[in-house]
Amino acid sequence: MLGLGWAALLWALLLYLLRMLAITAIYHRLIAHRSYQAPRLVWWLGSMLAASAGQMGPSWWTAHHQQHHRHVDTTSDPHTPLHPCGGWRGFCRSQLGWLLTPDFHPAMLPAHVEADPVLRLIDRLHVVPALALAWLSWQLGGWQWLGAFCLSTTVLFHAVASVNSVAHLAGEQPFATADASRNNRWVALLTLGEGWHNLHHAFQGSVRQGYTVRSGRIVTLPDPTYRFIWLLEKLGLAWQLRRPSQRALLARAAN
Ligand SMILES: [Zn+2]
Ligand SMILES: [Zn+2]
Repeated sequence: MLGLGWAALLWALLLYLLRMLAITAIYHRLIAHRSYQAPRLVWWLGSMLAASAGQMGPSWWTAHHQQHHRHVDTTSDPHTPLHPCGGWRGFCRSQLGWLLTPDFHPAMLPAHVEADPVLRLIDRLHVVPALALAWLSWQLGGWQWLGAFCLSTTVLFHAVASVNSVAHLAGEQPFATADASRNNRWVALLTLGEGWHNLHHAFQGSVRQGYTVRSGRIVTLPDPTYRFIWLLEKLGLAWQLRRPSQRALLARAAN
C-alpha cells in the first residue's frame, strides 16, 4: 500500500498513535489546560515527542490554543473556520492557511511554560525532535520507513487540525456554549478523544472530554486520551485529575 510494506505501515501507525497522545494528553490537556498534575519529566518527554510531530513547541502551541479559547470563533481566534472569508475558504484557512498568515506568530507566550528552562529549550529547538525521528526512521528501515514517518506526520497534522476546523462546523452540541464547537465522532476517532470538542469548550479544565447528554442523562463516550492519563495516574505519573460533577454537566446541558 502506497509503496510501503507492512513493517513500514506499522511504523507509521505507531508513530501516529504515540505522537497523537503526546499532543492530546501533554500539549493540550496537561500544558495548555492543566487538567491534571504530572512530574516535570512527563512534561519534558511528552513535549519532545509532541514536537517530533512537527507542530511546533510547547510555548507556541499553548499560546495559540489559549488564544483560541479566549476569542473562540471571532476574528481574533487564530484558526476559526467561521472567519469572515467564509465558506470553503474559511475551512481551508482553519485547516492549514492560517499558518501562512501573520496569525502564525503568537501575540504572547504562556508564562508558565516560559518559566521552565527545559520547555523553553524544547520550544526554541522544536525542529530537532522531528529531524531526529526522521533520521531514526531512515536508520531503521531506509526510504520506506522515512516515507512512513512523512505519511504519519502529514496525516497527524490534518487530524489535529480537524479539531479546529471540522469540530467547529459539524456534529452535535449537547452542551450550552457561546461558540460553534461540536462533538464529532469521526474527529474523536482520529484524535483519540479530542473530537468531543463541544464538551471541551463547555468544561475546558476537564481531563475527560468524552461526555454527552442523552434523554436528560450524562453518558460517557470513548476517550482514549483520558484512558491514557488514567493509566498514568495508576502508575503514579499523574494526579489531581479534574473531572466535572454530574450535576455540573447536567447544568450545562443544552436543553
Ligand atoms: Zn475549539
Ligand atoms: Zn483546549
